[in-house]
Amino acid sequence: MKRSVKAMTTGLSSVQITEKYLSFFRARNHLELMSSPLAVPGNSTSFIIAGMQPLLPYLRGEQLPPAPRLTALQRCLRTDDVDMVGTNDYKFSGFHMLGNWSIGNYGKHEVIEMALDLLLNVFGLDLGRLWVTVFTGDPRLHLGLDEEAVAGWLRVGFPPERIVPLGRDDNFWTTGGPGPSGPCSEIFVDRGPAYGCGSAECRPGCSCGRFFEIWNLVFMEYDLLADGSIVPLPQRNIDTGMGLERIAMVLQGTGSAFAIDLFQAARERLQMLAPGSDRLDKTREEHAYKVIVDHMRAVLMAVLAGVEPGRDGSRSVIRRLVRRAARQGRILGIDEQFLSSLLLPLAQAHGSLLTMEEHERVPTVERIVAREERMFARVLTSGLKFLLQLEPKADGQVAGEELFRLSAEKGFPADLAAEVLMERGLSVDWSGYQRSVEEHRRVSRLSAEKHFRRG
Ligand SMILES: [Zn+2]
Repeated sequence: MKRSVKAMTTGLSSVQITEKYLSFFRARNHLELMSSPLAVPGNSTSFIIAGMQPLLPYLRGEQLPPAPRLTALQRCLRTDDVDMVGTNDYKFSGFHMLGNWSIGNYGKHEVIEMALDLLLNVFGLDLGRLWVTVFTGDPRLHLGLDEEAVAGWLRVGFPPERIVPLGRDDNFWTTGGPGPSGPCSEIFVDRGPAYGCGSAECRPGCSCGRFFEIWNLVFMEYDLLADGSIVPLPQRNIDTGMGLERIAMVLQGTGSAFAIDLFQAARERLQMLAPGSDRLDKTREEHAYKVIVDHMRAVLMAVLAGVEPGRDGSRSVIRRLVRRAARQGRILGIDEQFLSSLLLPLAQAHGSLLTMEEHERVPTVERIVAREERMFARVLTSGLKFLLQLEPKADGQVAGEELFRLSAEKGFPADLAAEVLMERGLSVDWSGYQRSVEEHRRVSRLSAEKHFRRG
C-alpha cells in the first residue's frame, strides 16, 4: 500500500512547488505580492499568523488592492500552541502559506476550477486520492448547504460521493471574532488506510488523520457582527491558503512534514550529534527531533525578520523557542552547544525561499543563537538537576513554591519546568505558584516604597 502511494508522488522540491504555484496564478492574471515581514510592524508582540493577514485591509474593503487578483507565499509564525509541536507529523510553529486571492473578482466556480487544475495537472496528484468538504449550513446563521460550492465541484467532474458537507466548526471560516467570514471548502488527500481508524464512517472530518487537509478555499462574503449575526460584505472575496510544508509532504511522499526536503539536512546534522541509543524510546526521540528542527527554523525566520531572543514581547517568544529546543537536545543526549549549527543546513535547504541578503545574514543569526544558548546552558543544567531531585507530594503534585524558586532564583522558565515534570507523570500546584508570584510582588513593592520614602 505504502509503495503505491510513493509511486504516485512527483517528488517536487519545496522551491519547485512554490514556483509552480505562483507561476500558475501569475499566468491567470494574479499579481504576485512579496511576503510581508514576519513581525507585524508597529506591534511589538505580534507575528503574522495566517497567510491572508497582510491582506485583511483589502478583504475588508478598507484599502484598494494593487490588483483584484493576488498571489503570494507568506511566512507565518504561530506560537500560542507551541507545545503541540512534535505531537503529530505536521504541526509547526513557523510555516509557509501559499495563497491566491480574489478581491471582488472571481467566484466559487472559478477558484474551484483553478484549484483542481493545479492539483491534477501541475502537481500531478491523482483525482482518486482527493476529497473535498463544503459548508452544510447553520440555522443560527440562516444559511443552508453551500449549493454553489457543491455545483462548482460537480461541474469540474468531482465524484459526488467524495464531496462531504460539514458544519460550522469545520467549514465556516472566521477571524476568531467579528470581521470578515464565510463558508469554506477544504481539499483533502487520502493518505491511505494505513493512516486510518478503520471505521466505515472514516472520511474528512474524522480525527484519525487519514484525510489530510492541503488547501482551504474560503468564500469570504459575510461580515460577522459582534452579536453573532452575519451581513453580506460589499464585495465577495476569495481567500485561499495552502501550507507549503503540508503539500510538500504529500508530493514528496514522506509521510511526515518533518521529513521533507526543507528539514533533511538539519535532521542529518542532528542524527550525527545524537546517533540515538537503546535507552531512548523512539517516539520520544522523534518528538525531540521535530521540536528542535521546528523551533530552530522558526528562530531563523524570526531573527532574519529582526526579532532577536530577549526579555519582552515577541523577543521573549523567540527566547522561549531557543530554550525549549536546547532542552530537547538534552533528551537526545547532546551535552554540547549545538543549536546554532543547525541554522546553516536549514537555510541552505530553503534555497530561494530565503533572499540572497537573508542567506548572507545567516552567520549573524548563528552568533545570536549561540550566545543565547550559551547563556541558558548553565541554567538548564542546574535546573534539570533541581527538577530531578524534587519530591512530589502524595498526590503527585509538586509544590508551586518550588517552581517559583526555580524560575526566580535560577532563571529556569516555569512552563519548561512544568513540561519536564509532566514527562515524569507529575503535575504542578499552580495556585501555590501564583501565591508565590503575588507574595514576591508584594515584597518588591514594599521595598520599593521604602526606598522612595528614604529618598
Ligand atoms: Zn478515521
